[in-house]
Amino acid sequence: MKIIILGGGASGLMLANILVKNHINADIEIIEKYEHVGKKLLITGNGRCNLTNTNITTKSYNNDFGYNIAKSFDTIQFFNELGLLTYIDNEGRVYPYSLVSNNVLDILRENLNNIKISTSTNIIRIRKKEQQYELTSDSNQTFKADILVLATGGKTYYKDSNSYILANFLEHKVVPLRPALNYLKVQENLSSIENIRCKAKAYLITNNQIIYEDYGEVLFKKEALSGIVIFQLSSIIAKNAYNNYLIELDLLPNMSEDEIVKHLKKFPNMIGMFPKMINQYICKVANTQDPLIISKTIKHLPFHVVENIDYKTAQVTSGGVDVNELKDTLESKIHDNLYFAGEIIDVDGLCGGYNLQFAFASANKVAQDILLKVGTLNEKK
Ligand SMILES: Cc1cc2nc3c(=O)[nH]c(=O)nc-3n(C[C@H](O)[C@H](O)[C@H](O)COP(=O)(O)OP(=O)(O)OC[C@H]3O[C@@H](n4cnc5c(N)ncnc54)[C@H](O)[C@@H]3O)c2cc1C
Repeated sequence: MKIIILGGGASGLMLANILVKNHINADIEIIEKYEHVGKKLLITGNGRCNLTNTNITTKSYNNDFGYNIAKSFDTIQFFNELGLLTYIDNEGRVYPYSLVSNNVLDILRENLNNIKISTSTNIIRIRKKEQQYELTSDSNQTFKADILVLATGGKTYYKDSNSYILANFLEHKVVPLRPALNYLKVQENLSSIENIRCKAKAYLITNNQIIYEDYGEVLFKKEALSGIVIFQLSSIIAKNAYNNYLIELDLLPNMSEDEIVKHLKKFPNMIGMFPKMINQYICKVANTQDPLIISKTIKHLPFHVVENIDYKTAQVTSGGVDVNELKDTLESKIHDNLYFAGEIIDVDGLCGGYNLQFAFASANKVAQDILLKVGTLNEKK
C-alpha cells in the first residue's frame, strides 16, 4: 500500500507525522515542489509562526465545514507532546515559546527521517488509472499511489501554484479564488501618513450598512490600509462579490462625538490627540476648523476600497476545492482514496492562527480516516 502526500507544507507535514506516530501499515512518500519542505511555515506570523488560537468560533471561518474540522484538533497538545513549548498572547494567539518558526518546522521534520521525501519535484499532471493515481512531474518522472492526498496549498506566497489545476484534473470543482488577509487598496492618497500606525475601530460598510466591525491596529500605506484589523476586513470582502466597500475608522472609539467636541474646544490645535501628520490629515478631510465636523471626521474617517486581486501580499486564498464534493473525512466524493488537506480546500480563516489550525486539523482528519482504512503495524502483529 503506497500513500503519496503531495505537498510538504503545514498540512502535509502534520499528516505524515500523525501517520508515522501511529505506525501506519503502508509506505508513505511526501512529494514537494521546492528544495526544502515547509518553506512557507518559516515566514508565518512574521517569522514567529502563529500556530493556532485558543478562541475558535463559527465566525473564525468562512463556512461551518471549516469550523467543524478546525475545532476537532488540539494543536497545542500535539506540539506540546512533541516537546514544543508554547506561548499564548492576550488575544489567544499561540506561538512557539521561542517565537521562532524554525522550531515548529524542526519538530515537524524530526520524526520523518524514515519516510521518503522527494523534494524539487513539481507534479504537473495526475491521472486515475484503474485503482491507482499516477502523478507526473515536469521532468517526466512518474509516481504511483494507492492513496493520494492533495496538500498543495493555495495561491498565496508561491507565485506558480497549480493546486487548483491538479484538483480539476481529478474532476473537482473549484470555488472562485480571491486573495484574503491582505492589505486593502483605497482611493485616498495616504502618502502624508504613510507608515504611521494607530489603534482604531474599523467599520466595513456597503449599501449604507455596516457588515463587519473590529478593533485593532491599522497601518497606513501610500495607497492602502494594512494591519491585522484590515486583514480581517479583507477576508470578509473576499467572501462577497466586490461591492463598493467603504471603510470608516473611528480613531477614538472610547470617546463620544460630544466629548471630542469639548476636548477640541479646549485644545483646538489637537496636540496630544494623534501624531501630527494624522492631525493634519484629519483637518484636510474635514476641510474646516469647526470642532463639530472635525469630531465627526475623527469618528468616521472614510476610505473607499479599490478591488484588490493581488495575491503577492495576501496570507490566504479564499475559495478552493468545493466542500460539497468532500466527505466529512475529507475524502473525495468523486474518487475513492483521494483526500484533500489544508488551504487547497474552500476554507479560510481570520488572521490569528486560524489558517494553520485548519491546515493541521484537516491533516488530522485525513490521517484518522487513512489509519482506519489501512490499519497500523501494531494491529498486524
Ligand atoms: C506571509 C504569510 C504569513 C502567514 N502567517 C500565518 C500565521 O501566522 N498563522 C496562520 O494560521 N496562518 C498563516 N498564514 C497562512 C498559512 O501559512 C497557510 O494557510 C498554511 O501554510 C496552509 O497550509 P497548506 O499545507 O495547505 O499549504 P502550504 O503550507 O502552502 O504547503 C503546500 C506545499 O505544497 C507544495 N506544492 C504545491 N504544489 C505542488 C506541486 N504541484 N508539486 C509538489 N509540491 C507542491 C508547496 O511547495 C508547499 O510546500 C500565513 C501565510 C502567509 C503567506
